[in-house]
Amino acid sequence: MNIILLGPPGAGKGTQAQRIEDSRGMVQLSTGDMLRAAVAAGSEIGKKAKELMEAGALVSDDVVVSIISDRIDEPDCKGGFILDGFPRTRPQAEALDAMLIEKKMQLDYVVEMKVVDDILVERIVGRYTCAGCGAGYHDSFQKPVVEGVCDKCGGTEFKRRADDNAETVMSRLAVYHEQTAPLLPYYGDKGILRSIDGMADIDDVTRQIGEVLDSA
Ligand code: AMP
Repeated sequence: MNIILLGPPGAGKGTQAQRIEDSRGMVQLSTGDMLRAAVAAGSEIGKKAKELMEAGALVSDDVVVSIISDRIDEPDCKGGFILDGFPRTRPQAEALDAMLIEKKMQLDYVVEMKVVDDILVERIVGRYTCAGCGAGYHDSFQKPVVEGVCDKCGGTEFKRRADDNAETVMSRLAVYHEQTAPLLPYYGDKGILRSIDGMADIDDVTRQIGEVLDSA
């Protein structure tokens, strides 16, 4: 099964994609993670993406479409994938449709994670991850059991994203409403859009997504 998690920044797409990956063996394909890896590696793509990402703007459609197209061809995607942060524009959605036809694959569901803007800023500004294993935490909502020690791997180094600050978040939300939210009717018209309450607690959101996936 192949799905898209669609929602504003901070809706919990990454957290839920990791949970689906762990429980169902589908792979998480996060264009944000791929671009951050390119920036860290200092590749040509990374050099082009860095400033745009730090400003909360979108990287060009061509770049992200080609990254995703290559990634989907890898063997681990045959068991199903979860698109997290892609597509984000109408041209990306159309390019995805065309590539799936060409690759003889299909999209089963687009799961919209509904969260109001007011709580997104607080969610995003407080979040951080373990530098060792990538486990996600939050200053207020999800602290490690032992302060300063990762619950999953015992690591003691943590990092915050360069774009998780209050100013950049406002730009990212504006971009979401302008360019990404119009994908909701696009997928609604195809009959594959399912909306869930992304403001429920983390386990309940996982349960709601599970219900959608199990309804296939
Ligand atoms: P994310 O981790 O999904 O919040 O993405 C972080 C940043 O990476 C975004 O603010 C964009 O600058 C860039 N990015 C990630 N995915 C895309 C995409 N599908 N299209 C364009 N830019 C993207």
